[in-house]
Amino acid sequence: MTATEVADGITAFVQEPGTLGLSNATLVRDGGTALVVDAMLLPEMSEQIVAAAASRATRVATVLHSHHHIDHCGGNSVFGSARVVAHPPTAADIRKVLSEPDLLDRIMPRYAGRFAALGARVPEPADLSALAIPRDGQPLVFGPAHSFHDVALWFPGQRVLVAADLCSNGVLPLAIHGSIAGWADALSRLIALEPETVVTGHGAVGSAQTLRDLRGYLVQVNSLAEAAVRTGGGVDDALAEFDAGPVSGWLEAGRTRQNLAKAIEQARGRAGYLPGSGPVTGERVSRRG
Ligand SMILES: [Zn+2]
Repeated sequence: MTATEVADGITAFVQEPGTLGLSNATLVRDGGTALVVDAMLLPEMSEQIVAAAASRATRVATVLHSHHHIDHCGGNSVFGSARVVAHPPTAADIRKVLSEPDLLDRIMPRYAGRFAALGARVPEPADLSALAIPRDGQPLVFGPAHSFHDVALWFPGQRVLVAADLCSNGVLPLAIHGSIAGWADALSRLIALEPETVVTGHGAVGSAQTLRDLRGYLVQVNSLAEAAVRTGGGVDDALAEFDAGPVSGWLEAGRTRQNLAKAIEQARGRAGYLPGSGPVTGERVSRRG
């Protein structure tokens, strides 16, 4: 793990290469108190953040979870008396995630056995517009985008964006919980802020160009999916047309197939197909009446 002070008082904790289970977190300090964005997967991963705060005589007052995925909240037990908060629906989703350790064992077999005794705290639902964020940070809520609800923090004075999983760098995301089209729109809004530094949820610290590269990927996945629905094609047809372009070389390339499958499901939904319905042939339409 590397800790990099990307701007005065803002330190990014990055776990390269950012593949499954290896996520990033951010410490934002002002005076003697601090806010942490995300708590990684396991307590031992988050210990470094606690140590970094302590070495600067800073008390972590608040832990804010950007979204409900376990790799961003599983390690929150190390923050002692800090207030742990999330956007209200995200807090409810985290409660559910933490209540299903067997499911987590199956989703993340590499860490199987760790989830039943994780001891992670359920965040308190919080009105983020009223949350005290050091360095004049502004919360931005999106959703559905990367997940059902995603929170980013924008520091206009320093032009730093803590994007969490709305952006990754060098590793393709798995886009199975939100809306691929909604995520591309969220990235457009983040690009319009013109950040100089983007702390991603996975992979190295990036820039506005990283946001543009990921947006380009998602726009392409979405348009290939819409073409597949228009022409009656499937995932293989869409994948054959896929051109990685600026994200070629990013890790987890196999996720593109999963993302295309999800994007096709979402495009079918927009086209009026019912969930789970097969290809709608003329015969099937007439039988339905
Ligand atoms: Zn993540």
